[in-house]
Order: sequence, then C-alpha cells, then structure tokens
Amino acid sequence: MQIFIPLSFTLVAVMIIAVLLYKRWRLCKRKNVRKKESVAKSNENIQLLDRMNIVNKNPSYFMSSRAATNSKKTFVNEIPIERVKILDIVGEGAFGQVFRATDDSQSTPVAVKVLKEGVSNEVREDFQREVEIMSAFDHDNILKLLGVITRVIEETPYMIFEYMSHGDLAEMLRRNDPAMRKNGNDIILQKTDLIDIATQIANGMTYLTSQHFVHRDLATRNCLVGEGLAVKISDFGMARDVYTCDYYRIGGSRMLPVRWMSPESVKYGRFTTESDIWAYGVVLWEIFSFGRQPYYGHSNEEVVRFLDEGILLQRPDECPSTVYHLMLGCWKTNPKDRLLFSRIYSHLVDYSQQIARNTHNMHSSDIDSETEMLT
Ligand code: AMP
Repeated sequence: MQIFIPLSFTLVAVMIIAVLLYKRWRLCKRKNVRKKESVAKSNENIQLLDRMNIVNKNPSYFMSSRAATNSKKTFVNEIPIERVKILDIVGEGAFGQVFRATDDSQSTPVAVKVLKEGVSNEVREDFQREVEIMSAFDHDNILKLLGVITRVIEETPYMIFEYMSHGDLAEMLRRNDPAMRKNGNDIILQKTDLIDIATQIANGMTYLTSQHFVHRDLATRNCLVGEGLAVKISDFGMARDVYTCDYYRIGGSRMLPVRWMSPESVKYGRFTTESDIWAYGVVLWEIFSFGRQPYYGHSNEEVVRFLDEGILLQRPDECPSTVYHLMLGCWKTNPKDRLLFSRIYSHLVDYSQQIARNTHNMHSSDIDSETEMLT
C-alpha cells in the first residue's frame, strides 16, 4: 500500500500533465493553421483589391515580392538649382510641363520635368514614385534620371532627365510618315530603322522584366527618341492626361489604354509581364504604321468587343511578314503562350542581321555583274 498509493498518484499526475501538454499542442497547431489561413485570406484580399483598384495604382506596385526584397537602396543625385538654366518648353505631360535646359557642369542639354501647381496628392505621390522608380533603373533603353532639384523642404522636386532631341516616338513616327511627306520631315525612316527602334524597345523591356517590373503602359507615346535614333522607354507615371483619346474609362475612375491592353487586362484588370508583351505587339504595329492609332476608325467599345472576340490588328502595309509574325506571337490569347521579350529581342537581332547580309549580297552581286559587263 505504501508503494502503491504514491505510485498511482504519480501515474495520475503524469497522465494529467500529458493530457494538458497534448491539449496545448493541439491548441498551438490549430492557431498555426488559423494563422496560415488568415495570411492566405489576406493575400487573396490583396489580390482582389489589386484587381479592383488596378486602375488607381502606380506600376511600382507591380514589382513582384522578389523584386521588392531584392531592391537595392538607390540614391538620387541632388543637382544645385543654380547649375540648371531653363531654355524652352518641349512638352506637356500628366504631371506638368517639360523644359529643355542646360546643366552648367555638362555641355549636353537636359530635360526638366516640373510638377504643375495645385495637383492632387495622388498625382504628387505618382510624381514622387516616378523619381523612386526611375532612379532604380540603369539601362541604355530606359530613360535616365540624372538627378533632382529639391527646392523647398516638403515640396515636390524637379526631375532632371537626359534630353531626347526627337521627343516622343509616336509623334516622331507621324512626323516622318513617308506617305505624308511634308517639309517638316526631319528623318527619312528606312525599314531597318524601324526594326532597330523595335529592337531597342524589346531590349529595354527585357531589362525591365529581369528587374521583375511591369510597365503597364507600354506604347510609342511613352518612348522617347534621341540622337542617332536612340530609343528609351519612359513614362513610368502614366501620361494618360495628354493623349486622352488613347485612354478609355471602363467602370473605374481612371482612364485605361484599352487599345494596348491584353484581353485579360481588360476583363480582369490583370497586368503582368505577359500583358506588357501584348502591348509590345501593339507597339510593333504602331512603329510599322508610322504612329497610327491602333484600331483607328473604331470606338473604344468596339475595341473591347474585338478583344473579346479575338479580332486582331491587321498587318500594316509596309510591315514585313517576319515582324507581323512577332506581333501575332505577342497576341496569343493564353498569356503563357506569348513570346518572351528576350526571344523577341533575339528574333529581331537575327532578322536585322539577315537583312544586312542580303543587302551585302545584293551589292556584291551588283558589283560582280558590273565587273562582268566591263570585262
Ligand atoms: P511626359 O510627362 O513624360 O509624358 O512628357 C511629356 C512630353 O514632354 C513628351 O511627350 C515629350 O515630347 C517631352 N519630353 C518628356 N521627357 C523628355 C525628355 N527627356 N527629352 C525630351 N523631351 C521630353
């Protein structure tokens, strides 16, 4: 009895402790499951909000989480105001006027982007965000932010960009359309130039994709052209106030560039690298149409219907079939079937090499036949 009573007490105590520990373990496990479920739910909510709010957001939100965690701290160069001399106005964008200016420390001109007075906080934030986004990129085909001028504390700074002498690509193409040749033509665009322009944009987009960045508003109006037909992608803040006819309101409060949008962006507000690829196909179409508006002659409602019915843009008159095949590769209904930017870039490089070889062979055969005739 002397052994049995304490032993049974100990056994009961051990069993009670074991039951308590088991209950506690079950409770923790349940809490973990609930926590996981709530994280999943909130992710779902974020995605839902993304879809609902998509039109109100800046492209920077579409950096993937990997990009966000990988993002390096970037530093923006502060330029003293007295070093910059404003010369003239070169354009007007969503944020305000853009000036040509000189930077005393360099002999090259610069472009100064100034936020107009009295804009909403949302526009002010977009402008600030454009500074952050642009300062993070470094590529030959992405417009370079040289620095900012912070005038007064708390006020939005001026953005100082490299100057692109031919302005935006849409206007440059229209100005130099051979079918509308007028005195204002400043460049004679050859087919090889058009391919080179397309190659540079594909190169810039390959870089943005490597940075896990979705542009959401790729169009020729948002690319700038500099000396030697250097093309740079710009407008990460969306230039929709200026080219209002290119944007359309679908339910939401902001205007959307439907003519450049993929079916899934129009239907579900889903913007991804694949929807940028779709937009790139439209950019190719714009380039080979010398800046025509995609689906010109059709209303925005009709364009939305075309997208739904799988009716695609037709081959522009002067467009080589190789380039039109690239466009079709960008406009696959299933986003996963679309050509990757890196593939588009290498296709275009191969194609221009092939043209160069053919031209060279043609010249050599001309020289050969001339020599034959002479002998
Ligand atoms: P944005 O505010 O970027 O849409 O610019 C409005 C217009 O200003 C463009 O369509 C161009 O004509 C002109 N512009 C903007 N940035 C530059 C630049 N870096 N160099 C030359 N012109 C520019």
